[in-house]
Amino acid sequence: LFVAVLAAAAAAVSSGPSLYSNQLPPPRYQGDATVELEVTGQPGIDRQCHKAFGAPPAGMKTDACEIDGRVIAPNPCAFPASDAYARLLCHEIGHANGWPATHGQ
Ligand SMILES: [Zn+2]
Repeated sequence: LFVAVLAAAAAAVSSGPSLYSNQLPPPRYQGDATVELEVTGQPGIDRQCHKAFGAPPAGMKTDACEIDGRVIAPNPCAFPASDAYARLLCHEIGHANGWPATHGQ
């Protein structure tokens, strides 16, 4: 589960083990993987992630989680165009939503 830390709670984030983290995984967990990706709004993230893990402590907002090989995360199309990886995923999600491979309107 990945949390965004609201400014007031920055000091409360522990780098030790916790359900609520914004850390990168140790290198041995950073390999290639095949996952299902569900992109959804904050209500969908909160509903599914909090059902599985509980709500985070005050001062944190759940940004994403992983449940049984399914990653639940915000829609990358809502991220700034300067975010190259979000842009790449938004493009492909467009195709998943029916945008033709020829890139027409
Ligand atoms: Zn394309």
